[in-house]
Parts: sequence; C-alpha cells; structure tokens
Amino acid sequence: MGTLFRLFPQTPTHEDSLPAEIVEVSPSAGSLGPGPSDDAMYVIFPVDKEIEYGMHEDNLGQPFVYLPPWDGPIYEQAEPDLDGHFLHYQDVNDGRFHAAHVYASIRFTLDVWEQYYGRPIKWHFRSHYDRAEVIILPNFDNAQIGYGFVEIGTNVDKKDGSLSPFSLNFDVIAHEVGHGLIYAEVGLPHPETEQAEYLGFQESCADIVSMIAVLHFNSIVSEVLNSTSGNLYMHNHLNRFAETSSSSQIRLASNEYKMSDFRNGWKDEHILAQPLTGAVFDILVDIFHEELVRVGAISAELEEISDLLENSPEYGKQLQDDFDRAYADHPWLFHDALIHARDRLALLLIKTWARLSPDYLDYTDVHKAMLMADTELFDGQYHTIIEVNFAWREIGAVAVGPRLPKDDDGRTESHTNSNRTMFLLDDEPPVRRSYFERYSVARSNALKM
Ligand SMILES: [Zn+2]
Repeated sequence: MGTLFRLFPQTPTHEDSLPAEIVEVSPSAGSLGPGPSDDAMYVIFPVDKEIEYGMHEDNLGQPFVYLPPWDGPIYEQAEPDLDGHFLHYQDVNDGRFHAAHVYASIRFTLDVWEQYYGRPIKWHFRSHYDRAEVIILPNFDNAQIGYGFVEIGTNVDKKDGSLSPFSLNFDVIAHEVGHGLIYAEVGLPHPETEQAEYLGFQESCADIVSMIAVLHFNSIVSEVLNSTSGNLYMHNHLNRFAETSSSSQIRLASNEYKMSDFRNGWKDEHILAQPLTGAVFDILVDIFHEELVRVGAISAELEEISDLLENSPEYGKQLQDDFDRAYADHPWLFHDALIHARDRLALLLIKTWARLSPDYLDYTDVHKAMLMADTELFDGQYHTIIEVNFAWREIGAVAVGPRLPKDDDGRTESHTNSNRTMFLLDDEPPVRRSYFERYSVARSNALKM
C-alpha cells in the first residue's frame, strides 16, 4: 500500500472551496522519512531564509548564484504516523501540514505522469543533486523550480493585499512540477537557439501538466461535470489553473488568443503560451465530445452545434439545456468519456514531447510532432481535431513578433480581461536565467541599434 495524505484539490480560500481529499501516493507506507522525504526530494521549512534561490546581486552589484543545500536551522518536520501515513496533519495553521501538503502535491503530480510514462521522471539536475530540496518560503511572493530546488511562497492578492500560501495550492505546485517535467523530458535550449515560443511552450506545458493532474481528483472531475453537464467550453475548474482566491484566476485555458495577437511582439511568456494552451484544451474538449458521441451519450448534432457555438453565442442557452438533459440521463458515460479524453491527451502529449528538441523550438514543431504522435498511437484518429485547433489558433500561419519591454503590471494592451492577463509566476531556473539575461540584453541592444 502507498502512503496517505490530505490534499486540497483547490486552494482553500473561500467557504465553497472543495474539502481536502485523502489521496494515496506511490511510496509504500512506512518508506517516507521526516520532511516528508523520499528518494526524489526532501521538504524543509527553513528558519529565516531571507531570499529565494537563484540569481541575485550582492551589495556591490555583483551577480551571484544562490543554490541548495540550505545549511541553517529548520522548523519541526512532518513525521509519519505509526502506520507510515500523514493524515494526522490537517491544521492549515500548522507548518508541518504545509510541508506534507507540498510533498503530496509534487508526488501526486509525478505519480500521474510517471503512470503515463511507465517509468520514473528524473530531475534535469540529477547530475548535480540526487534529490530536490523543496523549501517552504512564506516571505517569497512566488513559486519556482530551479536547479536542485523547488520553492513555494505566498500569493499576495494584487487587489486587496490578502495572503494565501502557495503551499496549499495544488495547481501552482503542479505547474512547477510541469516545468521540471519539460526540462527533464524535452530539455533546455542553448541560449542562442532559444526561441520565444520555447518560453511559451514551457508555460503552456506547465499548465497542461497541472490540468491533467488535477483531473485525477475525483472531486474535481465530479465538480467539472456537475457544474457544466459536460459543456466544457463553459468556465469551470479546468480553466482555473492557478486559482489563488475566490476572485482572482491567474490562468484560463479556454482562452481566445491567436498567434495574430503577438504579430507585433510579446511581453510575457505566460500570455504568449495562451494560443498553444488554448489549442491543447480545445483538443481535450473535442476528444471528450467525440467520445460522448461514440458511446451514445450525446447526438452528433449536439456536438456539431457545440463546435459552432463560438460564432453564435445566442445558442448558448439551448446548448446548455441539451447538455443538461444528456448528462442527467447518462452521468457515468460522461465521467468515463472525460477520463478517456484526459488519458488520450496525456499519452498524445508525452509522445509529442518525445519528438521535440528544445533548440529552435516553436509551436509549429509541436503541431507536427503531435500529428506524428497521433499516427503512432491512435492511427491518426485525432488528425482532424489537431489540425482544426492548431489552425484556429493561427499556429504556423502567423509569426511571433519581437520581445517588447513589460509595462508595470505585466499586462498586454490587446486584451482587457484581467483574468487572462494577470500572471504572477516567474520560474526560470537560475542557470538558465543567467544565460537568458545575457542573451536578452544582447538581443535588446541589437534591436536598439
Ligand atoms: Zn510557469
């Protein structure tokens, strides 16, 4: 038997947040050490760690890289109970619960993806560090994965200044694991071969890794279906990737971005990621709807209408009524079809990533690799779905413009929906950042000349 934890599928910031679920992660009960710790990571809560790992400047303005291990004092660690489980930690004011929750979030996400891979995922920093040092760092207003570490801080709401710890935010932690997965499985480009779209690809994949992981919570799958009746273009948990409070959503997967939004340039890789994330999300929805038709849960006409909806919102009410009726008739067919689509998409993605090189990577490469992955895995069953969704996003049709300076709040001007344009996370690994900063400086100088 594995080890049991209490894990919040959604950060518990308001009354109607989903309660913690008891989850079983793969390490056998009794095998985990204090922290928790296993052979891939150890969680610690340092006393007075002043700054996060990564690139910094000293008092004289000289850059230095700050890396693990932490060698100072730490707070009391979470310990397993006599049976080897961690269910006795459930007080959100107890730092040991936060440590257990961060561990379980990372391990749960790795378990999900290692099942699809059929093998362990090895950290990209494995040649220097046996294990990731996972740090609870409340005074850090972000979360990051870097060379040898994962650091989890606190979200500061931009509107009301309220605080919510990222240590209880599964989406954010899974997003960081997603970056680690892509570093491990696709790799890091050489600074001179790094395209803007590699950065967007990283952010997009991190969100998708998190989305697929979150769809392994029974309560999320039920809530997604109960609140939409399977009409997934509606806003739902799937596209609230990194919800940090009841009012602010950081990322929306079902977005409307196309490549032409970046024709004149881009400012933030989280936003540049959106056409690719949107294409992948729409592929998930299309596989789901196609499966619903195949098992007889919805009619082919209903699927066609739902595809056309974005051009004719006046059918929205009628469409929702039809989905509500179909879902009430066959809830388990909807459940199974969503699981089916989730797993098909995950397999498609890992075969897609396996075909990619990080050097010169752009979204067209992802498109081509996904078509080949579909041929290899499913005999081209989703060829049309992939083609339609990449074409709708203008991937391959419109080139990305140059990188532009960020304005104060990191937003672009072309979209006013703050839910789509408010991004808080910045999680380049330090080694890569030092290269990248030099590269950016060189490139921006070149542009000025
Ligand atoms: Zn990120």
